[in-house]
Amino acid sequence: MTIRSRLGAAFLTSLFAVGAHATEPDALGREALGVFVDYLRIDTTNPPGNEIRAAEFFQKLLAKEGIASEIHESAPGRASILARLKGDGSKPAVILMNHMDVVPADMRYWTVDPFGGVQKDGYVWGRGAIDMKGLAITQVMSMIALKRAGTPLAADVVFLGTADEEAGGFMGAGYMVANHFDLVKDAGVVLSEFGAISTDEAGKVRYYGASATEKAPLWLKMTATGVPGHGSTPRPDTSVTRLIEALHRIAKHQTALKVEPVVQKFFADTAQFAPTPALRSIMEDVTKALEDPVFAADFTGDRWRNAAVRNTISITMLEGSNKVNVIPPQVTAQLDVRLLPSEDPERFIAELKSVIADDSITLERTMSFAPSASPMDSEFHRVLTAVAARHDPGAIITSQMLSGFTDCHFFREKGIPCYGFMPFRLSGKELGGVHGNDERLSEENMIRGTQMMLEIVQGMAAK
Ligand SMILES: [Zn+2]
Repeated sequence: MTIRSRLGAAFLTSLFAVGAHATEPDALGREALGVFVDYLRIDTTNPPGNEIRAAEFFQKLLAKEGIASEIHESAPGRASILARLKGDGSKPAVILMNHMDVVPADMRYWTVDPFGGVQKDGYVWGRGAIDMKGLAITQVMSMIALKRAGTPLAADVVFLGTADEEAGGFMGAGYMVANHFDLVKDAGVVLSEFGAISTDEAGKVRYYGASATEKAPLWLKMTATGVPGHGSTPRPDTSVTRLIEALHRIAKHQTALKVEPVVQKFFADTAQFAPTPALRSIMEDVTKALEDPVFAADFTGDRWRNAAVRNTISITMLEGSNKVNVIPPQVTAQLDVRLLPSEDPERFIAELKSVIADDSITLERTMSFAPSASPMDSEFHRVLTAVAARHDPGAIITSQMLSGFTDCHFFREKGIPCYGFMPFRLSGKELGGVHGNDERLSEENMIRGTQMMLEIVQGMAAK
């Protein structure tokens, strides 16, 4: 069992690895490439964001094509942009959502200027290339192509560029849903980040992964209080010792393993790539396989897979005394908890309280979203299946769960399905740059991805 398990872990890891692919350029894609380079030159580092620069870039681009747009600011400079191509209304609107902000880039560790729009070695380099200015360009170019062709539409096609996703989205997608829901409430679906096309090392496509759900953050602040005093005369029971003991219990706590339907579906869908029948049967029923403690230990030894099958807790922020010789009256710790889509935050807080087992320590929620998921079988999946069959005959379509979160939840919470899919075949080099150094997207991905996105939007919205 151990040998099989270890083989299994190695194979399962390789499922996330991706490779190179062949060229198939087209005119729209090449035009998109130029727009992409210009877009990457706009610095929308959040904080502070300055998404108005990106919003104005899109407004100008769309205006040239005769497409009107509106810019909504949640605060000065914190802009979101909305543009709509009208359909006949016989199908609900399709929203193409992208966030225009990016995380900071530390220039010292980049080999190129992160806002230089550098094209080198077949890649376009820049902060946001994958997360997610690249996808935004495929979306806006799809809208432009539909307008130019005068394609009769059944559904409205809505382009929604948002602010602030990298800091929680409350100034962008959250603001739009809270304050301008009337402008987006007719949507039947939202398409956004983060799933992609997975290939094997030889470049052969294995599956198209579309994210249908994500784990929900539950950020908590723990506060312990106690009698303060001088550091020279220690007490056995202080705010600090109480907090440390509680944190120790949390750090040792093993949350239950649970394989959500979306996670099981992913493994079952991709079981056909397993090198052995034994491994195939494990993937077809991961819940059962995890009953074996040896397999479970091996499986959860990988932090990505571990996060896929349980609620997780990271202890991240600690604040104690501001003087070395002062025993403080109060100390705090903050926890980054991520919940599975089927979890109830209240139930999890009760579990955590029983682990802390100290009524003098308070728990305060600093941020929390209701866990939510979109159906794994939808018109989007049917369209994606048809598009994939054209581009990569035999490729399977599967659903994925993100361990992080995107703007999608703002819409899912309102009952509007949201799917993450980037029509890119991402290599390890490309994936490594997301929130890291030397973020880049291959020119080929931009060229082919634009065509594929157009086909997806057409499939969803055209008559
Ligand atoms: Zn993103």
